[in-house]
Parts: sequence; structure tokens; C-alpha cells
Amino acid sequence: MSELNTDAFWMPFTPNRAYKAAPRIVERAEGIYLTTDTGRQIIDATAGLWCSNAGHCRAEIADAIHRQAQTLDYSSIFNFGHELGFQYAERLIKHTPDGLNKVFFGNSGSEAVETALKIALQYQRARGKGERKILIGREKGYHGVNFGGISVGGLPPNFQAFGQPLQVAHLPHTLDIERNAFSRGLPEHGVELADELERLVNFHGAERIAAVMVEPFAGAGGVILPPKGYLKRLREICDKHDLLLIFDEVITGWGRMGSAFASIEFDVIPDMITSAKGITNATVPLGAVFVKDGIYNTVMDAAPEGTVEFFHGYTYSAHPVACAAGMATLDIYEREGLLTRAGGDIGKHWENALHSLADMDNVIDVRNYGLAGAVELRAPENLKGKVGGKASAMAWEAGVMARGIGDAICMSPPLIIEAHEIDTIVEKLRGVIGSLA
Ligand code: PMP
Repeated sequence: MSELNTDAFWMPFTPNRAYKAAPRIVERAEGIYLTTDTGRQIIDATAGLWCSNAGHCRAEIADAIHRQAQTLDYSSIFNFGHELGFQYAERLIKHTPDGLNKVFFGNSGSEAVETALKIALQYQRARGKGERKILIGREKGYHGVNFGGISVGGLPPNFQAFGQPLQVAHLPHTLDIERNAFSRGLPEHGVELADELERLVNFHGAERIAAVMVEPFAGAGGVILPPKGYLKRLREICDKHDLLLIFDEVITGWGRMGSAFASIEFDVIPDMITSAKGITNATVPLGAVFVKDGIYNTVMDAAPEGTVEFFHGYTYSAHPVACAAGMATLDIYEREGLLTRAGGDIGKHWENALHSLADMDNVIDVRNYGLAGAVELRAPENLKGKVGGKASAMAWEAGVMARGIGDAICMSPPLIIEAHEIDTIVEKLRGVIGSLA
């Protein structure tokens, strides 16, 4: 095979020059395993980017994609429709929390976020509260890379070069290793951090705030879990001040936390949920926003009959091939019980296995919920804020794909993973962490 030319592809979220000096190429994937171009087998302990929930290359999804591409590959979705879009939306809302029965489709998490923020602003206008424009996010939050998402997001490298053009304010993040180290499941301490929302409301005025957007657990921020009672408290404060609450469930949706959505797991129902990634098992790009009926009805009722109620949409909203992939994905999730599997024995095994690393000198925190987790390392002086990346590179060499975020190693394996495979991941991590000490 001729040498691969890596020049033309400007890679996303990657140090291009360093990568191109030593490319790591994945050639094939099956189940929880990746195979590199040199034939090495790697355990995908991140399910891609928190998304290949049912494991890789599931034949029935591939078949559905193939069939759909041969039947109706595409047709305009503005003013026309295809049955599959309606059928798929109907099927999706069987899994959403009560009352979130409307679905707006995009192609990614970032587009789902932009759509949700625009629906929030449109809704406030539609009910005569157009002054409500401020959007509240949270430090260390990640909501994709478009301008709305980087405004509400709270990871500085994502917005520093571009600004945060929307009117935003931010809650504090909830990572508190000092008080919550080695908590299993939700941390005990920190519910009071939700009260910061009261402070922001007092400061800006409820009459100027449209919505609050948070991830139920912050994924790209480093698997930062909500303290016990925190999400409920946010809901209460939003209700008190008539603010919309949006959960960005791009990662937490589709079984990651042991329920179809974190909202269901924690019994806190937001006004909108953004979704992507696992929605199609990451096979074909698709994003969606699930919206409360009342929001939809308000937007509809405010517009004269026969006019476009919401000036928004994508060429590929409800793309037939994505809908077909999504349908086949739901078949698997439902049949194999994957939406709740992480809440059962396998989630417990994951917890125990990860926490077995707590005896290592340079492990300062282990946090987990469902089939997500992070191991926080004490970084040597020269690697502060970067030791996670170093550990990730070493894990790759050891045969595990894990994500480095700051000083943490973050993981979210496919929901089909078995106990012995979890043990292999943890054993390999032990070697990596040990050699970093
Ligand atoms: N929201 C959250 C919570 C995410 O984790 C991500 C992606 N990691 C996004 C939005 C953006 O999704 P995408 O990369 O598909 O645009």
C-alpha cells in the first residue's frame, strides 16, 4: 500500500502537526474492538466519542442504511415529507420523558443545541416575552462548536478565539474533588451550587432570561457528575422564575446512565432535551431536539395560519438514511435492553473495577455513573493539566482507547461491554497509571 498522505485533511480538535508526524489510524471496528492499520486490536473504552452505544458495525443497522439508500436516498424536507421522518419521530418519543412529544431534527449535537436555543428565544417571543434573551450555561459545559453552543458552553479554549456572541451567564461547575473524591455514583456534596442560579436571576432579572442549558453530567468537561439533588434544585428555581430548562443529553441520552435519558434516571423533566451521537449508534450523523408540547403549541399559535412558524431547518433534517439508521438502532436498544443495562450489574461491575484503582498513589479521584467514568491523576509538575492526554496516548499503545481530559482519563464504553472486558481495560489502565507515577 502506498504511504498515506495526511496533508489535505485539516483535522478537528487535534494537534494537526503532532498527529501527522505520527498518525494513528483505525481501519476497522466490530463490537467493542477497533483494529488499527497495523493490525493491532484496541478496546474502544470510549464508544468512539461517547456514541457507539450498541457497539460497532452492527449488521442490522448497516443493512437498514443500505436499503434506505436504495429506496429513498433523499427528498426535500421543506414543505414536503417522507413517511419515515414521521414514523421515526413517533417512535423516538416513546422513549422521551412525559410531555416532550415534539421532535426537531438536525445532523449533530451542535445543531441540536443551536436549534434548542433558537426554539427557546422563539418561544419567549411567541408568548410576548421577547426581552428574555439571556441564556445561562455552566462552567466546563460543552454544547458543541457552533456560535450558540460556544456562547453557552463553559470551556474557554472553545470560545476564546471566537467570542461568545450571545447574551450569556454561567453557573459554576460542580467538580469538587476535595469534598467528593471517590464518590460512587452521584456526589454527596454540592447541591447548593444550584442556588447560584438564584444569584444570576437576581443579578440579571428573570424578565431578561430565556433559558438554562446544562448537561446532566458534563462529559467533555471531564465526566463531572451532578451532586445529589442538584438537577432537581435547578428545575425548582427555573419553575419559580419561569425559565426554560434545557438538558443537553447528547452524551447522557440513549442508555449511558442506565435509563434512556438522564432526565428519566433522575426524574427531573426539562423543557427540552438535545440528543445526537447514540441516537443512530453513531453510524449516520443525526441530531434531535425533544420539545415539550406546550412550547410547540405556543410557537404554533403565535404565527398566522399558513406561515412558517419557526424559520429554521437543515437540508438534511430527518435525512431518510439517518432515520433508517435510527430506527434500526432503536430495534437493537429495545431488543437487547441496552437503554437500562448500565443501571444493572454491568454498571456495578464498572464502578467496582474503576474504584479498584483508588489504591494507586497517583490516583486522586475516581468518579462514575452508569457506564461512564473518570480516573483523575495527580499530575507531575511538568504535566499539569496534560497528564490525561499522556495517559491516553499510553493506553492506546497498551490497547485501550481512552480519552484524556485535563488530568483525567475519561471513558464511556459501549453499553454491550462484558465484565471480563471491563477487567481488561482496568488492568491495562493500572499498568499505564503505574508507569506514570
Ligand atoms: N453537546 C454535548 C453534551 C456533547 O458532548 C457534544 C459532543 N461531544 C455536543 C453537544 C456536540 O455534538 P457534535 O460534535 O455532534 O456536534
